[in-house]
Amino acid sequence: MIELPVLVLNQSYEPLNICRVRRAMVLLYQNKAEMLENGSGFIHSANREFSVPSVIRLASMIRRPHRMVRKITRLEIFRRDQFTCQYCGRQIRQLTLDHVLPRYRNGQHTWENVVSACVPCNRRKAGRTPAEAGMRLICQPTRPHDDGLFHIAAHYPHPRSEWQKYLPS
Ligand SMILES: [Zn+2]
Repeated sequence: MIELPVLVLNQSYEPLNICRVRRAMVLLYQNKAEMLENGSGFIHSANREFSVPSVIRLASMIRRPHRMVRKITRLEIFRRDQFTCQYCGRQIRQLTLDHVLPRYRNGQHTWENVVSACVPCNRRKAGRTPAEAGMRLICQPTRPHDDGLFHIAAHYPHPRSEWQKYLPS
């Protein structure tokens, strides 16, 4: 029973995470969360009985910076581009980052201006725009979809019935 999943809501009631009953009960016991739904009855100890939570809400707001600004790292860019050079389409591990509009021409270090490029393509493009270099991007770079915890909670493979009203439909 203490291994059952529990939906954790932020103070704002936004789904935040999934944890186990064991962890949820510690949070409740420490007054760091309140129980919103009891889905699993009770656990009895020698002299008390504890409700087994199915949904809890945190007492204070947890900031989720990655939801606002997902950090741009080399690896995140390579992942987004599926380790494919965005100019020649080669799938290769040895990739570099290319600023589509070069930095010295005020190209920004943003999801929309940074792509994966193999070394030969990066050299060939040099400090030019793709058009100037006669090269074409396979696809226009974009910010990856937010696949943060909200998404995880909504797509948890075994959501419990008590969670439904707290999850996006
Ligand atoms: Zn290439």
